[in-house]
Amino acid sequence: MNIGIIVAACCMGVVFGTVALMFLICGADKKHKIGGALVALAFGALMFCGIVSDAKTKDEAWNGGYCECGGEWELRAATKSTNGFTTKYYVCDECKHEITQ
Ligand SMILES: [Zn+2]
Repeated sequence: MNIGIIVAACCMGVVFGTVALMFLICGADKKHKIGGALVALAFGALMFCGIVSDAKTKDEAWNGGYCECGGEWELRAATKSTNGFTTKYYVCDECKHEITQ
């Protein structure tokens, strides 16, 4: 797991935590306060799980720098996506298997 994932997860915690708090403070009545806060927190938890499981999948694919066939990953390309993260494309030098990180 890299630092970018942790930062992203923390940012989301702050964003969804704030949204939940807004519902608690500004909700029209008790039902809206609690309901809105729960929906915001549930949505945040869902996004968090998505990011963490994605990071785990990438960690497993990376496998400490080696393909499951024993070949080494070679960096082929890198693209910067709109969300600010850089996606790197690696190709195994043995079996030509591709992964993204
Ligand atoms: Zn391989």
